[in-house]
Amino acid sequence: MYRSIFLAAVMTLLITACGPSAAAGTPPTPTVVAPPTTAPQISTPVQSSAAPATPVPTSTASASTSNTASALACTAPAQLTPALTEGPYFKAGSPERASLIDSTVTGTKLVLTGYVVTTDCKPVANAKIDFWQADAQGNYDNQGYRLRGHVFSDASGRYQVTTIVPGLYPGRTEHIHVKVQTPGGNVLTSQLFFPDVASNQRDNIYNARLLVNVQKADDGYNATYNFVVRPQ
Ligand code: FE
Repeated sequence: MYRSIFLAAVMTLLITACGPSAAAGTPPTPTVVAPPTTAPQISTPVQSSAAPATPVPTSTASASTSNTASALACTAPAQLTPALTEGPYFKAGSPERASLIDSTVTGTKLVLTGYVVTTDCKPVANAKIDFWQADAQGNYDNQGYRLRGHVFSDASGRYQVTTIVPGLYPGRTEHIHVKVQTPGGNVLTSQLFFPDVASNQRDNIYNARLLVNVQKADDGYNATYNFVVRPQ
């Protein structure tokens, strides 16, 4: 009997000692920034950390927060989208087309949408957004315009292009090259990356601020990225 009383006393002490420490890890409450009235209303869903895991490319909470121009986080002055090297494979004169997929292209479909806005969160209409990328095997077409093309943003600054998830090639992680040219002539040259790709950390020009947000779709992936450019 004494043994039972002793055990009960020990248990009581342990519960008392452990209780308060549970509150120590309470995360800070996130700050929600309301969009300015001039910001475009971006309806594309923002990836949440509660989303189910998906194969490469996948999305993470960090990808969401790194996309500084993401819809509703556009608070002036917004940070300019980082510029990144053009690389050796740019070719001027790409065709205007909403889909880079033709009969010669195989791979995992990727629909990329987003907005072009200025640092004061105003939409940029008629921005020319030129994409070029490797195919699923990591090869560029340097003869023709396979997986090359451009679109224009609409009056709200929105753009959309359909393509495939690019393949890897030696020394680089998955990426899509892009040039965003405003009607005033400013050109941003950069590259977009995909979250949760192991080779991101081995790519010496990778920049987490250039991660797209990715969601699984029935026939591939949907991705979003918003470009912040200099006012013209
Ligand atoms: Fe490249």
